[in-house]
Amino acid sequence: MAMNPLMDSAAERALRYLSAIDARPVAPDPDAVERLHELDEALPEGPTDPEQVLALLDERCSPATTATAGSRFFGFVIGGSLPVTLAANWLAAAWDQATGLYRITPATAHLEQLTLAWLLDLLGLPPESEGAFVTGASVANLCALAAARHGVYERAGWDVDGDGLVGAPPLTVIIGGEAHPSVVKALGLLGLGRRGVHRVPVDGQGRMRVDLLPEMTGPTIVCAQAGNVNTGAFDAVDEICARAHEAGAWVHVDAAFGLWAMATPGRAHLTRGLADADSWATDAHKWLNVPYDCGIAFVRHRGTLRAAMAITAEYLPTETEYRNPSDFTPELSRRARGVEVWAALKALGRQGVADLVEGTCRHAQAFADGLSEAGYEILNEVVLNQVLVSFGDPETTERVIADIQLDGTCWCGGTIWQGRTAMRISVSSWATTDEDVRMSLDAILRCAARRRPAT
Ligand SMILES: *Cc1c(COP(=O)(O)O)cnc(C)c1O
Repeated sequence: MAMNPLMDSAAERALRYLSAIDARPVAPDPDAVERLHELDEALPEGPTDPEQVLALLDERCSPATTATAGSRFFGFVIGGSLPVTLAANWLAAAWDQATGLYRITPATAHLEQLTLAWLLDLLGLPPESEGAFVTGASVANLCALAAARHGVYERAGWDVDGDGLVGAPPLTVIIGGEAHPSVVKALGLLGLGRRGVHRVPVDGQGRMRVDLLPEMTGPTIVCAQAGNVNTGAFDAVDEICARAHEAGAWVHVDAAFGLWAMATPGRAHLTRGLADADSWATDAHKWLNVPYDCGIAFVRHRGTLRAAMAITAEYLPTETEYRNPSDFTPELSRRARGVEVWAALKALGRQGVADLVEGTCRHAQAFADGLSEAGYEILNEVVLNQVLVSFGDPETTERVIADIQLDGTCWCGGTIWQGRTAMRISVSSWATTDEDVRMSLDAILRCAARRRPAT
């Protein structure tokens, strides 16, 4: 089989795509999206030349992508890919290691173990913590909460992973009024119920009101948040941990992007007590800028994550001198997503990660300053990489958001923050420069001025 021309072609097409990405509109070309239907056909009965398959993919799909890999996408919380992580991803894809068992995939299993230790060091988490590479923060929340469920029931003398939930003592789950929906979904998947949780009211930034935490008795899990998806705000995890631990409760922190603030001394005022928690969920595909998909679960108490995740079968090796990644993840077979994280950490070093976090926060502040100077209202305290701006009444703000997406210079989405319609700016990409911020700010102000109600 002629392998090289095909691979060369793929690399060439990928590089052409990336080198042109900042010259095209950030939103996908609407005509190209329409033309995706040209791919619609009955399942082919016979073969197609691989080069032709690749050409079809590139010509039909590349223009219909959103330029999230570029430097001016500020929607949701979506990072790009550091070049070294994309390169590592290509090599690791060539290895095709099903990273479940050490004995079969020693290189990637070893790398993931090393990378987890580096992450604990970088993020200042307890060195005895165990971790797992999963698809994203949604599944990291699920895994960490499965460990939490095991942990609190173990303390209550109930083996939930062995005996299930039927007949188990009641378990109280406490979350903030601004908990991410993925936490609620994880609780549903774990049989703890999406609705049966105690919701604690939040303040104007979305932080749990610690003074309104309920009394905690019996098996209890508290889900705190580090990095609200709208405001970037952090719960007072230090105070939450103090209260919860006094009552023997487990504190889990959804820190999908906020955990990376632990990598820079400049944000220490936000992250106080974060390391006191019992488990954490984070993403690497957001702020660390590795390719999709990659999230990480960390659990402080040795044995609990494994108790919730390990599988045993006659044909699987059971030796204990190696760490089998599949003892810590929902999957047995999976791609070696720790490879790109290792590459990012090796290439950036501790200082580089801090610079990445601080740089994007500085860009967010520049957006907030520019918009505020032009007379628009910033709805959040800009403590991290998230900015919420209102352009006036809800209709005007919605029109400005639609205009900016159509304009194509940059891409920002909308939200409703505590009843107020707002545009969200999230700066999460390594690739964003001062010049990108200037260009984007100009475009936003141009769109906003056009919609400014006549006075
Ligand atoms: C993005 C996000 C999630 C979900 O993460 P995925 O990687 O999309 O699964 C959970 N919590 C918060 C706070 C987030 O920002």
